[in-house]
Amino acid sequence: MGRMGAEDPSTAFRPRLLDLVTFQLMLLMCSASCGGRLFRALFAEVELDSGGAYMDFRVSQPGYVCLNCGAPAFDLGEVPGEMAAEAEADEVPAATDILCPVCETLVRVEADMECPNCGAPLEVG
Ligand SMILES: [Zn+2]
Ligand SMILES: [Zn+2]
Repeated sequence: MGRMGAEDPSTAFRPRLLDLVTFQLMLLMCSASCGGRLFRALFAEVELDSGGAYMDFRVSQPGYVCLNCGAPAFDLGEVPGEMAAEAEADEVPAATDILCPVCETLVRVEADMECPNCGAPLEVG
């Protein structure tokens, strides 16, 4: 009995681990900082071929839990963008030109300060 030419079918559909890892730039962190390294995506859609072999996945919306302690996890890869957006929202340009009520000098003020000409306190807004 020969087994010539027979290929082991179990090696035909190996999970494409490299594809999995490089799918997108993520850095998941447990919110409880338990040190867990495994997480589960709560809203992931897995794509299979007709034989049920894993092909690909995509996260339909962000949401992860730590598999070590069960706490919610968050994606640090997304945080810098969100923080930048928040910083932009906070950073309202406050420079205003106002007339000093005492000497009527036009002063550009960004916060409460004194008139550079006469020293009178100037209030923004
Ligand atoms: Zn954890
Ligand atoms: Zn003044």
